[in-house]
Amino acid sequence: MPNMKSLFFTPGPSQLYPNLDRYLMEGYKKGVYSLSHRSQKCMKIIQSTKEGLAVLLGIPKTHAIFFLGSSLESMERIMENMQGTHSFHFVSGSFGEAFVNAAKATKKKTTIYRIGANDDIDVTQLVIPKQTNLICITQNETSNGSSIEPKTIHAIKKKYPTMQLAVDIVSSAPYPNLDFHHIDYAFFSVQKGFGLPSGLSVLIVNRSAIIEKSPLGFHSLVSLAKKEKINQTPETPNVLAIYLLGRVVAAMNRKGIATIRREIELKAKMIETLVTQHSAKLSFAVSNTKTRSKTVIVLNIADGSKLLLKKLSRFGITVGNGYGSAKDRQIRTANFPQHLIGDMDRLINTMKEVL
Ligand SMILES: *Cc1c(COP(=O)(O)O)cnc(C)c1O
Repeated sequence: MPNMKSLFFTPGPSQLYPNLDRYLMEGYKKGVYSLSHRSQKCMKIIQSTKEGLAVLLGIPKTHAIFFLGSSLESMERIMENMQGTHSFHFVSGSFGEAFVNAAKATKKKTTIYRIGANDDIDVTQLVIPKQTNLICITQNETSNGSSIEPKTIHAIKKKYPTMQLAVDIVSSAPYPNLDFHHIDYAFFSVQKGFGLPSGLSVLIVNRSAIIEKSPLGFHSLVSLAKKEKINQTPETPNVLAIYLLGRVVAAMNRKGIATIRREIELKAKMIETLVTQHSAKLSFAVSNTKTRSKTVIVLNIADGSKLLLKKLSRFGITVGNGYGSAKDRQIRTANFPQHLIGDMDRLINTMKEVL
């Protein structure tokens, strides 16, 4: 397939956002990548990226927006900053486990609440031990394609208002419509649903949750908050990625978050139709439509995934393989904002052809 653009439906790193090549060159020509991180121009870039994110995700002024290196780092910073010693973790897969590991690395006492990919959380029945200081939720579990609805997350915080709540939205943002009044911490990385190269993550924190602790590392939330007030960072940050994120977020805001969310739902429906039409070969790994992710869709492939992945690659299309032990049985396809409806059409038509 010469002259056809390569498509990446991998769950991250994934396809790049439309026009990213232009944004990259414009930053280059404007000298953005040589700016001092203490200069007015750079502070303006950081400010504008944060303001764009606040509009896109509905982040109120009560919350600070920090730039870190990765979401695994965000988990560790959250655990380091948390008040008290007891964390409570909803775990349905590998990324929920990663949050537990971050808690253990900072010597917290962890309680794990295991949920299956098809399990709805019944908040009225839920009991969280009263000594819990921080509740950790992986809103979208990238390893098995399950997700937790925002309204369930809000209900958990309403039931336990004195406990803090941290939400991993790495492989779903900007899709989930979170009400940040119920959220103390949320974080994501830009190589998933923002269509950027890896190397930058965003951590959103309710300022009232940031507490003075010693010793103060350069990326402690206290150090980050001191500089964030003046649109700076403690270290020399990834200015290139912060600038590009600002451009992508501005493009998303021009399109409108409502349209972006509607398109994600529409593309998820397109995959649903494909699965229905090819039910002998394809099935959803998550059968419960309430817990099935719309942004990372995991499919069981009756004849195994290897040949399918190979055939798709001949058409310039890369999708993710299954995770861990499901590597050869499943495929994972991302459905992010940078995946245009036409791109999804091409994936589906090619799947039909090769199946
Ligand atoms: C990718 C991913 C992470 C890790 O992000 P990094 O940027 O690699 O640190 C954490 N949680 C979820 C749900 C992810 O999909």
